[in-house]
Amino acid sequence: MTETAFTETEERTALRTAVAKLAGGYGRDYFVQQARSGGKTTDLWLEIGKHGYLGVNIPEEYGGGGGGIGDVAAVCEELAAKGCPLLMMVVSPAICGTVISRFGTEQQKQRWLPGIADGTQTMAFAITEPDAGTNSHNITTTARRDADGWVLKGRKIYISGVDEAANVLVVARTEVPSTGSGRAPTKGKPCLFVVPTDAEGFEYTPIPMEIVSPEQQFSVFIDDVRLPADALVGDEDAGLVQLFAGLNPERIMAASFSTGLARFALDKAVAYVKEREVFGAPIGSHQGLAHPLAQSKIEIELARLMTQKAAALYDAGDDAAAGEAANMAKYAAAEAACDAADRAVQAHGGNGITQEYGVAGLLVAARAGRIAPVSREMILNFVGMHSLGLPKSY
Ligand SMILES: Cc1cc2nc3c(=O)[nH]c(=O)nc-3n(C[C@H](O)[C@H](O)[C@H](O)COP(=O)(O)OP(=O)(O)OC[C@H]3O[C@@H](n4cnc5c(N)ncnc54)[C@H](O)[C@@H]3O)c2cc1C
Repeated sequence: MTETAFTETEERTALRTAVAKLAGGYGRDYFVQQARSGGKTTDLWLEIGKHGYLGVNIPEEYGGGGGGIGDVAAVCEELAAKGCPLLMMVVSPAICGTVISRFGTEQQKQRWLPGIADGTQTMAFAITEPDAGTNSHNITTTARRDADGWVLKGRKIYISGVDEAANVLVVARTEVPSTGSGRAPTKGKPCLFVVPTDAEGFEYTPIPMEIVSPEQQFSVFIDDVRLPADALVGDEDAGLVQLFAGLNPERIMAASFSTGLARFALDKAVAYVKEREVFGAPIGSHQGLAHPLAQSKIEIELARLMTQKAAALYDAGDDAAAGEAANMAKYAAAEAACDAADRAVQAHGGNGITQEYGVAGLLVAARAGRIAPVSREMILNFVGMHSLGLPKSY
């Protein structure tokens, strides 16, 4: 096959086929069954790890596949397209794996990357705080120097998969000691710390969510958690630069999560409208149903194209251009997923709301893509300001 700027490599296509086959063996029934019974998707997670798909973006010398974000995004999309959207793929290999690969010391890479790659040492990511919300510049979790190490204190919210993770990459501000007597310490730049989930003083409780998924979100309480000096990943003074290195992959992965989910919803709708007859012909023969589904097909393909562009730019090392494309891809993919899920429900009529057909359960998962990891409003703020040159609006 000839490769053009608009097609993926044969290697990427083969990766998609292999992941789709593996995920198809589990399928939506497995995913929903685990979610509704309080189970987990550990066996699927470890199997994709064993085959090298989970860590396909991690450097080979640390147990990964040596590929790029485009590869791991393809894995994420194909899993979701088979009804098994795994949020922790966005977090563990893509955010944490990228940040540690790019900024970790040799020792930190050897210690954490192999477990992220094979799925045995999943890493969660915690930036969101109850009071700061979208405005992550306002986070107050602090890291205070103590002898040779650090003491962390603060609170995080909506942190995915803490119960399945061995460690959490926590964003905290360093505390700069006061220079004069009696002065309060000042807050430094946001830094990244690897915190074991079994550390003393680290506690988490699940937040009941309406998403049908075995992966849960948690409130996290960090109460004077003591960490060794090498828990700090990267440079204490680099601040947001290092953090942003993980956020473009996060957006590209979130976009892939959404396009996969959208494909799954659309496939279900198309299969249903081909079969269901009420006026003596399949309901898919009515334009009232066919056109919205055709619209979804177009919207999904457009979002996939932008996602692949963002991944290609990121993998080529163009962080700035990747940032704009990743935001646009994430926006377009979340919109496509919300519309596809809604149209799939409509196409199913009453069956669309039943547990048996499992379509309505996609609505909330798709809807979450408009909120997390970055909301559609903040993407519009970004595009307004950076792409259009409009004044900062927040
Ligand atoms: C399923 C799920 C999983 C998540 N997983 C993680 C995780 O693993 N780790 C993690 O750190 N976080 C995680 N989050 C948190 C997520 O990143 C936040 O929910 C998100 O950033 C929004 O923050 P918030 O919920 O505090 O909303 P708020 O900041 O309270 O915002 C509420 C609304 O106001 C809008 N808004 C706020 N300011 C402006 C403005 N200036 N202009 C226009 N609109 C504005 C927002 O867009 C949003 O629609 C997860 C969230 C969900 C739902």
